[in-house]
Amino acid sequence: MPQPPLEILPPPIAHLRRGNVGVDYVHRFASARPGPEVLVQALTHGNEICGAHALLWLLEQVEQVEQVEQGFAPQRGALTLVLANVAAFERFDAQAPHRSRFVDEDMNRVWSDEALQAPIDSVERRRARELRPFVDEADFVLDIHSMHEDCQALMVCGTADKNAAYARALGVPGLLLIDTGHPAGLRMVERGGFSDPASPRRALLVECGQHWQRASVDVAIDTLVRFLALTGLADADWAQQHRRLPTPPRQRLVRVTEAVVAQSADFRFLLPVQGLAVVPQAGTPIARDGERTWLAPYDNTVLVMPSTQHARPGNTQVRLGRYED
Ligand SMILES: [Zn+2]
Repeated sequence: MPQPPLEILPPPIAHLRRGNVGVDYVHRFASARPGPEVLVQALTHGNEICGAHALLWLLEQVEQVEQVEQGFAPQRGALTLVLANVAAFERFDAQAPHRSRFVDEDMNRVWSDEALQAPIDSVERRRARELRPFVDEADFVLDIHSMHEDCQALMVCGTADKNAAYARALGVPGLLLIDTGHPAGLRMVERGGFSDPASPRRALLVECGQHWQRASVDVAIDTLVRFLALTGLADADWAQQHRRLPTPPRQRLVRVTEAVVAQSADFRFLLPVQGLAVVPQAGTPIARDGERTWLAPYDNTVLVMPSTQHARPGNTQVRLGRYED
C-alpha cells in the first residue's frame, strides 16, 4: 500500500519533559474550587501525533492565562495532561512513520493489574507503571488516538454503555463504538471503574482520523475543548470560542460483537474494506485466513478499523459489528 503523505509531523515536545508532578511529560493544573480529576492523554501510541499537537495547543492556552489573563485555566477540579509513550514518539522516522507506534509492546494492552504487576520489563510497562497513579486518580479520561487507515473520526467507548452515553453528552464525533475489549490485553479506558457500570468514572478514546492528516489535529482539539466543557473544567464561553468543527446532526452507535483475530500469517481480505464498509448479507466471505474463511455473521455487518498491514497470528485484523439505530 502506498504511504499516505505526511501532512503533519511530530511537534517539538522536549521542553515539556520536566512536568510539575515529578514524572516526565506529566503536567497538572488545579483550580482552587473543588471538582473532578480529569486526565487527557496523548501518544499512547507514539506515532499518533494529533493528540500531542492538541496538548501543545492547550498548554499555550494555559500560558496565555498566566501572561495576559485570557486562555485556559480549570474553573474547578484539576486537569492532568500526559504525553505517554514519548520513547516511541522520539523514534519517528519519516521514511517509516509507523514504526514509532511503540518500542517493545503496545502500550494500550498493558493496563490490567495482572499485566502491570507481572515480572515483565518493557519500555511501555515501565511507563504505564509510572502513569498508573494518575489514571487511577482520574474521574474522567480522554485518550487521544488516530488511525492507520483513512476513516472518519470515531469514539471508542470501551465495553460499557455508560461511556457511550457520555460521548452522546459530548456531542462528537458522529460515530460511537462499543466493543468487546481487546483480546490482546486491557486498554487504559477499560481499567478499573471505567468499565464498571455502577462507577461514576468515565473514559473515552477518540480516534481522530488518519495519523498524518492535518484534519486529525482539528478533531483532536475540538474533542478536547468539548471534553473540558463537559467535565466542568472549562467555561462554556471559552469552549464555544475554541470549537473547531460543527456538531454532527446525530451520533450513530456501532456495537462490535467480535474481533477477527488472525490465526495465520496468510490472512487476506476478500472484499474492499476501506472506511466503515458494510457487508449487506450474512454468510458473505470476508477474509481468507490460512485454511479458514471468515464469514459475515449477520446482515449489514460493519467492518470496523480493518488492518491491511501484513497479518501476524494473534493480530486483530478487523472488528465486526452492527449499527444499533
Ligand atoms: Zn492508537
